[in-house]
Amino acid sequence: KAAGRNTYALFGEHMDELLRKRRALENDLRSAVETRIQFETFYQPVFAANSGALCSLEALARWNHPTLGYISPDQFIPLAEEIGLISDIGAFVLEDACRTLAELPDISVAVNASTLELESPGYALRVLTALAKWQVSPARLEIEMTETATADDRGELERTISMLRAAGVSFAIDDFGTGYSSFSRVQKIEVDRIKIDKSFVDEMHRSDSRALVVAMIDMARAKGLKITAEGVETVEQRAALESLGCDDLQGFLLSRPLPRQAVVALVTGAKQT
Ligand code: C2E
Ligand code: CA
Ligand code: CA
Ligand code: CA
Repeated sequence: KAAGRNTYALFGEHMDELLRKRRALENDLRSAVETRIQFETFYQPVFAANSGALCSLEALARWNHPTLGYISPDQFIPLAEEIGLISDIGAFVLEDACRTLAELPDISVAVNASTLELESPGYALRVLTALAKWQVSPARLEIEMTETATADDRGELERTISMLRAAGVSFAIDDFGTGYSSFSRVQKIEVDRIKIDKSFVDEMHRSDSRALVVAMIDMARAKGLKITAEGVETVEQRAALESLGCDDLQGFLLSRPLPRQAVVALVTGAKQT
């Protein structure tokens, strides 16, 4: 009994500690959003599977915390969604992406958007305003969204997508295959591309995972969608995905996400040679 009570006390303490850390991180995130300067955007190059040419960049948010260093977006994006700061962070990334698009005229850029952002009424206008400000064609921007079933306002999400697609912006379903509704969602929402999630690429040496990848590619082909595979880490994965007919490949084997300056140098340098 005593041991049970101790465990409970320990658990309680542990919870306090976690809550305290979380609140501290929340406060830090709030002030980081106010000052902006701790946020950076990294860019991961995406390559055409058959030619190997660099064809686009994925913009990825980075939070450089003053004492904790770089914090993964997997940690701070969900927190930002919870405390209502996701639109601000999305706006920083979008602004940086447009600046990069203006600087690199031959390349397209993809940004990630949370379902919460896509459902907020001002989103489409904000995207079009940023593109206009930097005089960038909407056709060079792609928006990656996850397939999380949306809670309430499906209508707003669909309005946002059709307004932006009418202007020339394209859409991709990110982490394709990980949601329970992947295949049905793609029937309902007009998109241009699927991104096969890294978890499937990781397991491609197994025949059942490989079969799933084949099914995703067949479905995408039948619907005329482009296909990107993410998280490509080995030459075996690259060869398999290329032979199965993926259009584009992204992963540490090809390039890690890079700071803006490094990617600009890479792209402009690559063009000269
Ligand atoms: P995601 O959209 O699936 O992005 C791909 C993630 O996989 C990135 O992590 C990227 O660095 C990583 N990655 C790419 N290739 C490889 C590989 O070969 N091996 C391994 N191990 N990892 C690879 P990152 O940058 O940490 O982003 C994590 C997630 O955070 C993203 O997943 C995306 O869902 C979210 N995120 C990032 N930036 C933003 C943003 O600006 N807005 C929103 N709403 N979400 C974002
Ligand atoms: Ca993505
Ligand atoms: Ca993913
Ligand atoms: Ca993701």
